Amino acid sequence: MAAKLPFADTADFEAAQRGLIATVPEGLVRTGGGTVLWNLGEYAFIDGELAPSTVNPSLWRMARLNLANGLFKVTERLYQLRGFDIANLTVIEGDSGLILIDPLTTAEVARAALELYYAHRPRKPVVAVIYTHSHIDHYGGVRGVVDEADVKAGKVKVIAPAGFMEAISGENVLAGAPMSRRAQFQFGTMLPRGARGQVDAGLGKSVARGTPGLIAPTQSIAKAVETHTIDGIEIVFQLAPETEAPAEMHMFYPQLGVLNMAENACPLLHNFIPLRGAVARDPRIWAKYIGDAIAMYGPKTKVLIGQHHWPTWDSAKIIDYLEAQRDLYKHIHDQTLRYMNRGWRPAEIAEAIDLPPGLAERWSVRGYYGSVSHNVKAVYQRYLSWYDGNPCNLHPLPPAPAAAKFVEYMGGAAAVIEKARADFAKGEFRWVAQVMKEVVYAEPQNKEARALCADALEQMGYQAESATWRNAFLYGAQELRHGVFQMPVRPGMGADTLAGLTSDVFFDLMAIRLDAAKAAGQSLVVNWRFTDRNEMLALTLKHSTLTHRMGETAANADVSVTTTRATMDQIVMRKLTIPDALASGALRLEGEIPKLAALFSMMDPPTGMMFEILTPGEGR
Ligand SMILES: [Zn+2]
Repeated sequence: MAAKLPFADTADFEAAQRGLIATVPEGLVRTGGGTVLWNLGEYAFIDGELAPSTVNPSLWRMARLNLANGLFKVTERLYQLRGFDIANLTVIEGDSGLILIDPLTTAEVARAALELYYAHRPRKPVVAVIYTHSHIDHYGGVRGVVDEADVKAGKVKVIAPAGFMEAISGENVLAGAPMSRRAQFQFGTMLPRGARGQVDAGLGKSVARGTPGLIAPTQSIAKAVETHTIDGIEIVFQLAPETEAPAEMHMFYPQLGVLNMAENACPLLHNFIPLRGAVARDPRIWAKYIGDAIAMYGPKTKVLIGQHHWPTWDSAKIIDYLEAQRDLYKHIHDQTLRYMNRGWRPAEIAEAIDLPPGLAERWSVRGYYGSVSHNVKAVYQRYLSWYDGNPCNLHPLPPAPAAAKFVEYMGGAAAVIEKARADFAKGEFRWVAQVMKEVVYAEPQNKEARALCADALEQMGYQAESATWRNAFLYGAQELRHGVFQMPVRPGMGADTLAGLTSDVFFDLMAIRLDAAKAAGQSLVVNWRFTDRNEMLALTLKHSTLTHRMGETAANADVSVTTTRATMDQIVMRKLTIPDALASGALRLEGEIPKLAALFSMMDPPTGMMFEILTPGEGR
């Protein structure tokens, strides 16, 4: 890697520092009580150009770049706060107040970022918040920078792309637990920082801790291109749905000559499916929206910004940069389909495709977050699903019993470990991890197998250019060596996210917790009325399945419930018990009440998310 890539090109280091006014004070963000939520000091080991032998030199370079932090003047009236979290907070100075774009993940870091701005610029009120897309690192800290009362009073606008709230529930809520668990691997949040641990997250150093929240948008951008003047700043919004997020938009500010590509043109290869898991994204449409932005705004753009990383200046460089991004996504999409159409399978295509000359040696398309390999598999999945078409793969044994057979056929665990040790010595780490997975699944308590598997994953982590691959491999090694770190069971989502869910999704969430065995043979119809949202619906239990119909009342209901969604949210968050809600009158029931109690007893209790990944886990 060190020989192949243009390390003499240091333009990005200049761009990452350009316009710096002040760095993050002490590199720290603390709560009022002193708890450290963000600490750049943990990364002090990242100094010097030469990568340690345990970090891919290309990733080391990005890990250095992502250390740039503080308040930056990008151009007249436009500032960015970087290095307070994984994403950037962008500030535009309107005629009377501030327009904030993407208030980071948690209230504490967003507040700290805005305070650094105020330390160097006039303390004007926030008049608008814009969310570029539906990922939590772009909206979660909103309560740190605006008061919801001001939003309700119309003093602060909150603007988001159409489908923003639906996208939040759709992407992260129903599969929330496994997604959070897998995100631990993607971001390496629980890995020690260090040359043998977490060095970066690709998009930034890491995700900030603290209190996430959400204030729902007061204005949706719904047309393909919409222009609004906000506090004297003309903003051309370009919707780009189904790209990096289901709801996402770019912005062009004509007076400033600035194009904001949100998260669709970061200086790296992004994900078609992140390792945390997601519905497969559409790289074809992603490339098209980048192309549209080039055509509409490219020649007029003097500065390109994104909501991660540093800007690009100069129109010709910007167009060149965006063309590389466009072609990066289109190339992987097209070449994957080309091989698919010749009958190749996902892992074979992933091995065959690499970036072409002209792209491969550009820093801005390297796979620090996504990788060509897993993005190829995402394209395959988008078009042809998980099934590779070979009927031998249609109904295989599940992982643990299959592993037991494999190991038995190969002559037992000791024989496999001996052979794998020889391959480890030859540097065949991919294969060693692959075959040791079988031994670990056959014999989860086999210490030798776990240790050898961990050693192989660790070497793969040290080699990886992608920060998310490195984190996943190293965290896998850590769990094999030390087991799963058990955390207390917490509510799966914050109060704001829960309150933001439509009642339709609220009942979907209830339905996915139904224990089918406990519900066997039971049937029940419940009418619900939420007086605070003026909603009614009929919920039916039949065939061990819950279905609901919004806006309907069933004539044959066994039970009727009258309450508020706010009360139900409190019950779900375990801040209120059903008996207390009944006693206070917040919850009123009519009909066969024991049947409703029986329904609640069929629901899975909250289980947390720290399930086994590196070993089979119970009952599987
Ligand atoms: Zn982001």
